[in-house]
Amino acid sequence: MQDILLVGGGIGGLATALALGQAGVANQLFEQSAVFDEVGAGIGLGPNAVRRLQAWGVWPGLQDKAFVPSQLVVRDAQNGAQLGCLPMGQAFVQRYGAPYLTLHRADLHQHLRDAVHAHGNTSLKLGHCLQHFHSDAASITSQWQGPEQQVVEYTSLALSGADGINSKVRELAWPSSKLQASGHWAYRALLPRHDLPAAWRGDAMGLWLGHRLHVVHYPVRGGEWLNLVVLVESSDVAQTPGWDSQRTPAQTAQDLNHALAGCCSPLQELVRSSEAWRAWALFDRHPLRSAKDMAQGRVALVGDAAHAMLPYLAQGAGMAIEDAQMLAQCWQRHDLPVAERLQAYAQSRWQRVAKVQARARRNAQLFHATGALAQCRNWGMRWGGAWVMDMPWLYGH
Ligand SMILES: Cc1cc2nc3c(=O)[nH]c(=O)nc-3n(C[C@H](O)[C@H](O)[C@H](O)COP(=O)(O)OP(=O)(O)OC[C@H]3O[C@@H](n4cnc5c(N)ncnc54)[C@H](O)[C@@H]3O)c2cc1C
Repeated sequence: MQDILLVGGGIGGLATALALGQAGVANQLFEQSAVFDEVGAGIGLGPNAVRRLQAWGVWPGLQDKAFVPSQLVVRDAQNGAQLGCLPMGQAFVQRYGAPYLTLHRADLHQHLRDAVHAHGNTSLKLGHCLQHFHSDAASITSQWQGPEQQVVEYTSLALSGADGINSKVRELAWPSSKLQASGHWAYRALLPRHDLPAAWRGDAMGLWLGHRLHVVHYPVRGGEWLNLVVLVESSDVAQTPGWDSQRTPAQTAQDLNHALAGCCSPLQELVRSSEAWRAWALFDRHPLRSAKDMAQGRVALVGDAAHAMLPYLAQGAGMAIEDAQMLAQCWQRHDLPVAERLQAYAQSRWQRVAKVQARARRNAQLFHATGALAQCRNWGMRWGGAWVMDMPWLYGH
């Protein structure tokens, strides 16, 4: 019998397999897709996540693919005026022991997979989709639909759901928990940096705050590409989250034109320079209210399955990586029965991730503010500068 079965081979599942495997814990990871295929968008990782990747030895291989932004520059999307600036680069290394990184998701995913293969304690099973599970006093038994549509069954001591925002594990074990539609959409494009005007080829991360929209951009793939994300509010509320699921090119163009209408011309020109957009309808869940929302009996959740959040703090994957490290640490409490180990994991995680979920919601209001709230926000950034933009509670953890 395996110690622990992991459901889902995204960043959360792979990080958990890696952390467990490096601690010498044999595990099996099941992914529903027949091939690994991480979506081609960028991702920012705070020093809180990067320190854990470094501890797992993933960092040397990633160095060429990652980009270390020198600073975060925040601007008013309407007139282009600078509102604030947070030095990152070496300043973050000195303060937090690791840099802030921007990456292409596929690069991060590939390096996590390589590291999982290297330790040899994880058996990876592709094309397996979780259907059901039930537990008894000694074990948990799970049923899967295999690659030839056959039903297969496995028994383990525990099951960890890292199966993302539409988690089957959560649906089965926490049936009353519901996803919340935000009405926000994230549009993402990748632009070759060498084709861009010099103003867009700097080594900073950019954040532009507008009326009911914000724009984020940063280099990825060692600086070869610019990842550009436009986050807008729309009256079209999506039914389910997912890339490309509900937006035609015409709807995308309409949403972007409408949202950017009042923005300064350099920002409009940058957005118009791409026609290849992918859309993600943004959903989250209410912040966790107790450890019981994250682990029950022989089942524990990791990553978006546990704490789906809006991407307005850029920490969903970061929290999944932190979860992975803590789950592996608690799993080694051999003095405790399995359910208590998982409860210890949830106890040490739920308040932190609830705070991050709540702050991400608050940022949605602040980033997209209009009127007096926008004026207060801009005033605070101008006068508080790096002091109001830095987050030691988040990055120093
Ligand atoms: C626009 C946008 C920007 C973002 N930017 C950032 C950022 O800058 N920084 C950051 O840290 N986070 C960011 N995030 C959040 C981050 O992408 C997620 O938090 C993270 O990818 C979650 O990883 P996960 O492994 O928990 O879930 P997923 O990546 O969704 O992986 C779940 C896996 O489980 C598999 N699966 C699902 N159901 C089953 C089943 N029944 N059986 C077997 N397998 C199954 C799926 O196929 C998938 O491979 C962003 C999110 C969005 C939408």
